[in-house]
Amino acid sequence: MGVTDSLKYYWNVKVVGEPFLQWQRWQAERHPKTPSRWRTDILSPPLRIGAKTKELISRHYLEGRYANGHRPVAWVTSGGPVEILQALGFYVLYPENHGALCGVRKAVVEISGEAENAGYSTDICSYARTDIGSMLSGKTPVGRLPKPDLLLACTNICQTVLHWYRVLAKHFKVPLILIDTPFVYSEASDHALEYVKKQLENSIPISEQVAGQTLDYRRLKEIIQLSKDAAELWLEIIGRGRHHPAPISVFDQFIHMAPIVEMRGKKETVDFYAALLKELDENIDKGIGAVRNERKRLLWDNLPIWYRLRYFAEYLAEHGISVVASTYTNAWGELAPLMNKEKPLESMAKTYTYPILNQGTKYKLDTMKRMVEEFELDGVILHSDRSCKPYSIGQIDQRNKLIQEYGIPALLLEADHDDPRAYAEEQVASRLASFVEMLDN
Ligand code: SF4
Repeated sequence: MGVTDSLKYYWNVKVVGEPFLQWQRWQAERHPKTPSRWRTDILSPPLRIGAKTKELISRHYLEGRYANGHRPVAWVTSGGPVEILQALGFYVLYPENHGALCGVRKAVVEISGEAENAGYSTDICSYARTDIGSMLSGKTPVGRLPKPDLLLACTNICQTVLHWYRVLAKHFKVPLILIDTPFVYSEASDHALEYVKKQLENSIPISEQVAGQTLDYRRLKEIIQLSKDAAELWLEIIGRGRHHPAPISVFDQFIHMAPIVEMRGKKETVDFYAALLKELDENIDKGIGAVRNERKRLLWDNLPIWYRLRYFAEYLAEHGISVVASTYTNAWGELAPLMNKEKPLESMAKTYTYPILNQGTKYKLDTMKRMVEEFELDGVILHSDRSCKPYSIGQIDQRNKLIQEYGIPALLLEADHDDPRAYAEEQVASRLASFVEMLDN
């Protein structure tokens, strides 16, 4: 690591950037403003914590911008076992989160186009295309992404990441750690968990070598505890959707989930979620719901449609519909009980083997059924995501089972989480309108 790069980092991040972002947040908290186009007739004012969310995300990307040469950088898949890298002082970038941000900022067509022009098919996941496009062109809405010194891909979400990260490794000429997690049909065998644990153990020497330091197991335990604390708080937060009216919609959850994905293992993430939970509890006491006139409550399955969050939130709220539960946001909290700092590698092996996408479709159906009952839901929207095949497989059967068993309407909506070219505006609008009518009948 170089002295000049460290000086650049301290000046740009610590001296200039962080105080500016704090000041910006402080101003926003002191003089809270509802955005001019916010539909206050149907939606409650935005959560106050929004200013802090913005500060955390901006700071994360600011740190990344000046990380190269100051600290080691790792690019990691979203369900990757990140705690070892955090304990070794890596700056960790999640290309999928960056892809989501590109989706919200409507930059995917341009950036992904760079990958497509280089020969990558539009059938590849739009997160992968966006990341590869960004890698090839340097385009990003956050200024600049740091180059990785190490890559970590875990197959617990899909097999796309395996090929995607090989492309990255070849391009950046850096080591790739691959953690292969056997698929769980009902329960992971001891042998499977031992196999994952062994791979985690084997990842340590190469990570230490790139980081230039030895893993401190006390630090690893602290980080595991912080990851667990944040995930438990997140689980409580999304659980507040059980209240009538729900103080948080899944559209808010999609925005405020960024820290649990890209800032796990940090004290400030725990503090952030404690503050969000407190705000929700205050809103519950005051009877404030995310949707002003909540009449119907829905479940959202699969990834968000990042470039149409506002459209869905407003259209549904106009009809008194609040989307209060989601299998996707639930996935970032439900494994919290498995983490155990006293058994760091064993518990990591288990936690990272059990994500929803690494389990059979029955597990997702059971999760949806539980949510329909616990959150007292009136219907379900299943986003059939062109990009994410592992999340979308089995949705037709799942929809039919939910309709049969609970007698509630369930809409299968075809789109893509990041690429608006796979989104048929009129078709979605008309299917959504019929679904809303069914909810009232
Ligand atoms: S295919 Fe699905 S799980 Fe895999 S990277 Fe894309 S969105 Fe994530």
